[in-house]
Amino acid sequence: MKHNFGAGPGILPQQVLKQAAEAVLNFNNSGLSILEISHRTADFESVVSEACSLVKELLNLNDDYAITFLHGGASTQFAMVPYNLLGEGETAAYLDSGTWASKALKEAKFFGNVNVVASSKEANYSYIPKGYTIPTDAKYFHVTSNNTIYGTQLHEFPESPIPLVSDMSSDIFSRVFDANKFGLIYAGAQKNMGAAGVALAVVRKDLLGKIDRKIPSMFNYQLHADNGSMYNTPPVFAIYVAMLTLRWVKEQGGVAAMEKINNQKAATLYAEIDRNPLFKGTCAVEDRSRMNVCFVMDNAEEEKEFLDFAKKADIVGLKGHRSVGGFRASIYNALPQSSIDHLVSVMQQFEQLKK
Ligand code: PMP
Repeated sequence: MKHNFGAGPGILPQQVLKQAAEAVLNFNNSGLSILEISHRTADFESVVSEACSLVKELLNLNDDYAITFLHGGASTQFAMVPYNLLGEGETAAYLDSGTWASKALKEAKFFGNVNVVASSKEANYSYIPKGYTIPTDAKYFHVTSNNTIYGTQLHEFPESPIPLVSDMSSDIFSRVFDANKFGLIYAGAQKNMGAAGVALAVVRKDLLGKIDRKIPSMFNYQLHADNGSMYNTPPVFAIYVAMLTLRWVKEQGGVAAMEKINNQKAATLYAEIDRNPLFKGTCAVEDRSRMNVCFVMDNAEEEKEFLDFAKKADIVGLKGHRSVGGFRASIYNALPQSSIDHLVSVMQQFEQLKK
């Protein structure tokens, strides 16, 4: 068995992989593959409707929101958000807390003005900027809830006087938060929610239709919402895997249960990073992510040696992003505590070897 610490596409529950594999051969005992049936069949329509209901239930959303499953990954959402919410000449506020946040605000500049309220770029995004003021005259305030590359996370969301928009690609369904405080939430599926190829967008309906711009169909939230994510052929298989994964989250006890396990997993790993003299964390302790744990060693040669050592112990996906170096252990919902315990034990074995 491999211990998969990859940052994304990331680990999925074994149960989900088995069910998805079965559906590729024989979906709902129909004698057909899920890959070869129309998205307009009752069987598939019930998949989309169950996926939407699960999102609503797991995030405790009220009826003010439209739930859509869209093509184009989270990166398309970077553009779709301002396309739909930011009129020409208007301003949107962004928190620049990492590479993905900065890519999001770059796209917004195609549609209007961007006010970067704070940035930690100068410190290689090693902390979450705080103490900023959210401008009341901006159309929305965009934050990235978890910075996948740098291993930082917003543990508390700001009280925002304007609609709060969040990219939650790498921590959605991993912890409890009040989703009804948001104007819009989006996430690429391939970390905590399923396979690559689909993004979830949860949009407060009253925010739509407020600007003059003409929006091409595939970029128009209203159109996707009105058509129940079936305006065109949706990413059928990716939506199916997302639905299975959400079912699994519910079976585990929902987001609160996931949060409890995730906190325990993160605490175990950070404790070893702080104890083991060979390793050190890369970001501000109060902002440490409970999804992507970044750490380094003093010696680059030794880092390579540790990666090889870990690989021999069936640990995969541990190499850090090139902009941080070292290691990144992505510990998404589907990664069990036993994989964390295994990594900790491998770190301890390496320490003994180096004595
Ligand atoms: N936002 C965050 C926080 C991410 O981690 C990623 C992917 N790693 C993206 C956006 C981009 O997602 P996609 O590849 O689906 O466009």
